[in-house]
Amino acid sequence: MALVYAFDFPHDASPRALGELLGGKGANLAEMTSVLRLPVPPGFTITTDACREYLASGWPSGLDGAVAEHVERLEVALGKRLGDAGDPLLVSVRSGAKFSMPGMMDTVLNLGLNDRSVEGLATQTGDERFALDSYRRLVSMYGRIVLGVPADHFDLQLDEVKARVGASDDGQLTADALADIVQAHLRAVEAFTGEPFPQDPATQLRGAIEAVFRSWLAPRAVRYRRREQIPDDLGTAVNVQAMVFGNRGDDSGTGVAFTRDPSTGEPEPYGDFLVNAQGEDVVAGTRNTLPLAAMAERFPSQHAQLLEIFDRLERHYRDMLDTEFTIEQGTLWMLQVRVGKRTGAAALRIAVDLTTDPRLRLSPREAILRVRPEHLDQVLHPHLQRTRATPLGTGVPASPGAAVGCAYFDPDRAADAADRGERVVLVRPETSPEDVHGMIAAEGILTSRGGMASHAAVVARGWGKPAVCGAESLTVGPDSFTTADGTVVHEGDTISIDGSTGVIYLGEVGLVETEPPPELEVVLGWADELRAGRLGVRANADTPDDAARARAFGAEGIGLCRTEHMFLGERLPVVRRMILADTPDEEAAALAELLEVQRADFVALLEAMDGLPVTVRLLDPPLHEFLPSVDELLVQQARGLLPPEGEALLAAASRWREQNPMLGTRGVRLGIVKAGLYRMQVRALVEAALVRRDAGGDPKVEVMIPLVSTLAELELTRQWVLDEVVQVAGERAAELGVLVGTMIETPRAALRAGELAQVAEFFSFGTNDLTQMTFGFSRDDVAPVLERYLEEGLLTVDPFASIDEPGVGELVRTGVERGRLTRPDLKTGVCGEHGGDPRSIAFFESIGIDYVSCSPFRVPGARLAAAQAVVARAEP
Ligand code: ADP
Ligand code: MG
Ligand code: MG
Repeated sequence: MALVYAFDFPHDASPRALGELLGGKGANLAEMTSVLRLPVPPGFTITTDACREYLASGWPSGLDGAVAEHVERLEVALGKRLGDAGDPLLVSVRSGAKFSMPGMMDTVLNLGLNDRSVEGLATQTGDERFALDSYRRLVSMYGRIVLGVPADHFDLQLDEVKARVGASDDGQLTADALADIVQAHLRAVEAFTGEPFPQDPATQLRGAIEAVFRSWLAPRAVRYRRREQIPDDLGTAVNVQAMVFGNRGDDSGTGVAFTRDPSTGEPEPYGDFLVNAQGEDVVAGTRNTLPLAAMAERFPSQHAQLLEIFDRLERHYRDMLDTEFTIEQGTLWMLQVRVGKRTGAAALRIAVDLTTDPRLRLSPREAILRVRPEHLDQVLHPHLQRTRATPLGTGVPASPGAAVGCAYFDPDRAADAADRGERVVLVRPETSPEDVHGMIAAEGILTSRGGMASHAAVVARGWGKPAVCGAESLTVGPDSFTTADGTVVHEGDTISIDGSTGVIYLGEVGLVETEPPPELEVVLGWADELRAGRLGVRANADTPDDAARARAFGAEGIGLCRTEHMFLGERLPVVRRMILADTPDEEAAALAELLEVQRADFVALLEAMDGLPVTVRLLDPPLHEFLPSVDELLVQQARGLLPPEGEALLAAASRWREQNPMLGTRGVRLGIVKAGLYRMQVRALVEAALVRRDAGGDPKVEVMIPLVSTLAELELTRQWVLDEVVQVAGERAAELGVLVGTMIETPRAALRAGELAQVAEFFSFGTNDLTQMTFGFSRDDVAPVLERYLEEGLLTVDPFASIDEPGVGELVRTGVERGRLTRPDLKTGVCGEHGGDPRSIAFFESIGIDYVSCSPFRVPGARLAAAQAVVARAEP
């Protein structure tokens, strides 16, 4: 297995499909080079195999040889040698994993310079300033990234010299000043590491490659992967590429651009450009950029060439793309391409636009794959209410949605505040990967520098987090910011930001729901057609309001109505009376009272979901949840403050107190212990269905019995349900067509599914409890353990958020298979949190689940994810 591939290597497959091996950046560089034949500086990619081998057992044995061979090939092709004192070859060393991790892995530019070759570069280019500028960048980048010298060592030196010579911008530094900076940087490296800066280019190269490999394990990279659920074992590739220089004078420059507007989806290229600058200047957001249109004026022919390349890229990738390019003394070079991240609104617009674009004519199948479920969340996000308040300032509307929270100026303090339950807006001059934990914790992000392509903007958009970037009128300090008119906002003050308009306000501005773009319905309509008959989407809804909302979001029924929510609030005293009942008569009286209110609830619910199935779960939670805390009552008692009726409550609460309530008297067990309860609930439900029938409605009732483990439990309780239906509805029982099924949420139920299906007409997998019981993780207490497990990589994803396929998923699969052996037309659904998780939805689709059920807000995303799962499996 080769460890290194040149960009022009003739792979069997299209290299863009080789992201796993070459990383995304390397795969696309190869695609641009070998398939599209675009102007790309030559180079090679060290594979992720090499990285994994390095991380497992040290530097791979064949790697030095392979790298040397490929460097030599580069040298021959370009007629320059690495480290040459006359005309040196310089390279960049760039990381690139399978999934783009913006800014997470560091890139070293200008590698190959040393005390001798810097002179060669100066003579060869006739530009001493440029050569020294490149060298000082190398020493500081290499020093920081590879040798671990703190960045401020170099920054301070740079600022010092700038102040001494009176330069406000790096561009104003003279060759002499740059020479001083280089010397200072070299000394800083030696002082910090105890060794001189490596002069041998091969040593530099190996050091940089190793640093990229190691950066896979850097805490900030690990954090990003956790957040994005990217597996830890992929490793990163390393790209070594001949340098081109955007900092060779005013006929040079560098930029980043999208083939369409990533914010609105408008079919116009969009980007940032800097004259006489090197790549990282644009991305770092440290210099204020020009819009792409300005490039058309300064560099008309290169601009035209770039647009032509965009056209070819879009035809080839059939999507909107994000590119990096550099102009070196008039020549345009492409440095990167990838499918562009975009806002929700842009994703929808682009997906629909590409179907009618005569060059592309995407099919609906392809188009729905251009939108991600998170995009839908974004367009369904709120924005700020109209206000008369004067804005504190305005910035680039970098990531839509609005956020209100206390300003925090430091990522650690922001994260702490969020842990304390505060809503936080992270305010920074600009962000870098070091800030990621603060960004995760924040409701929104505000920066005073950088544009649409800045780190803050890219990361926030990817996460669907509101962000306003480049609000230049704000001066952001370590614990406050000052506006143009001198207003000072301190840490902890509340601010409101609108990432769709870029406006910033002091204080709390109300949030309003958004009007989703017209393309939303188009895309969801395609999704519904594509998933029809394969995977349905229902909602978990307990109230008529929830049900109405779910229906508006496209739910095809209720997959889970939790009746316990109907037992709270003003009804609690009645519930308590039922629990405390000393005699059957008292219990019956309390149940009769509950019957009235339950019936009214069900009538409204069935009306809201008229014509669609409504799955009602009989009461599930432990009874003690309806009783006051024993400890509190004991304290009151000790203080002599317990009222007379409190004694009875205390007795009941103590009686129902359990060591492991989640494994206790709940679900069907509770139903059996309090036998009148389930009958009452079914009575209320059937009466409600009859009321709806009489009103001309079409109620479709499914009764679900929770937490069953054995056939005997299910047989007994199901018989109660059937009896009650017949008793209440009499001859009309058949007309109602009530289905009776069970939840599968204990491992035993999943294993004995064949038997349960003898009497259950449907299964609904309660994957929250099933996960809890399969792992033996207490859902409510496991957080600190999970956090640790995720940190240590003992688990890659939180199994309560995304189904554990090999374990819990295997039980679900087994349940479906065994159930259907007994009852081929058995209906199966999933109603845990996982029902709204795209990754889990794909799994459920693959094992033949009939529908998923999730919270109303997740319904649109689930409709899309379901369709994507169907399409992806049809054409892998
Ligand atoms: P990231 O993944 O953070 O974007 P990149 O590897 O793309 O990192 O590089 C960082 C910056 O350096 C980019 O602006 C890129 O265009 C620039 N760059 C990388 N390699 C070269 C090269 N060979 N010549 C010129 N600029 C380069
Ligand atoms: Mg890049
Ligand atoms: Mg449950």
